Amino acid sequence: MVEVSIVVPCFNESEVIDTFHTTLIASLELTGRSFEICYVDDGSSDPTGMRLRDLAAADPRVRYTRFSRNFGKESAMLAGLRMSRGDAVVLMDADLQHPPELVPRMLELHERGYDQVVAQRDRVGEGPIRKALSGAYYRLVRRFMEVEVSDGVGDFRLLSRRAVTAVLSLPESNRFSKGLFSWIGFETASFTYTNVQRAAGQSKWGGRRLLNYGIDGLVSFNSRPLRMAIYTGLCLFLAAVGYALWITAGVVINGVDTPGYATLIAAIVGLSGLQLVTLGVVGEYVGRIYFESKRRPHYVVRETNDTGAMPAFTRSLESVGQAPSDS
Ligand code: UDP
Ligand code: MG
Repeated sequence: MVEVSIVVPCFNESEVIDTFHTTLIASLELTGRSFEICYVDDGSSDPTGMRLRDLAAADPRVRYTRFSRNFGKESAMLAGLRMSRGDAVVLMDADLQHPPELVPRMLELHERGYDQVVAQRDRVGEGPIRKALSGAYYRLVRRFMEVEVSDGVGDFRLLSRRAVTAVLSLPESNRFSKGLFSWIGFETASFTYTNVQRAAGQSKWGGRRLLNYGIDGLVSFNSRPLRMAIYTGLCLFLAAVGYALWITAGVVINGVDTPGYATLIAAIVGLSGLQLVTLGVVGEYVGRIYFESKRRPHYVVRETNDTGAMPAFTRSLESVGQAPSDS
């Protein structure tokens, strides 16, 4: 059994992967512990997969899995966690935004008994709009979510073996790791480091992808938006009843003086907007139920040198207690 596993999801990272690998190996060797690196190529369209294969051929401590297409970072992290065998597992990005020099410090904290160690970044060097938006998002999340998720906590974290087992035991197919890590609990330590810019290549998180990720996060951890939709609907309904009474009273007392279509149109547009939002919220949950009920695997493996690995689909079926032959 190795002491430390490093799990690295990579998507089109061929420009940085070599630098990352040498830096990582250097800081790991300094710690004097046995380690392995589990790379997951998330269906890159550039030579990342080939580079990983070369790295694995050159060094027995490197293992890799390649997906058949891009399944997203969450799936890649899941595959990496499944591959890992270490007592402690560190999740990190391949773009050197998670400085490998911090890994020894995380291991030290783990040694003191923490099951999760989080390296939290500040937001130095980020655009003002992105900074403001994420600030607002985390305030919203903190109000609505049943689990604690804080600003600047990315996926750079160390998990003990039992924490990894706990995360892997969660069956949902819509995975929002930040929430899952917080959901499993355990003693968590955190420290802050200065944000680093990507070493090379491009961020894969455009505005739209981030927005989708944000909605996923909000909806996958609570049903409060549903409750909110109900409350808002109720309030509006009561307001409308009050208004109708008021108008009727006005007509009875003073007679009709102004045309009514303006208020009518306002009410129709306002209420139908609200209905659409409510329907959207309901649909979001129904869609999730549909998605979960299909029990699809999280990813499909194209190639791996992970000898212990079973094909992803048999595994996910086993974890829900069905026979692998069941399609
Ligand atoms: N990543 C991935 N699959 C994806 C998108 C990203 O495995 O579909 C990996 C990417 O290679 C990197 C990490 O996730 O190692 C973080 O991605 P990125 O640096 O683009 O995100 P940012 O740092 O801008 O939030
Ligand atoms: Mg990055």
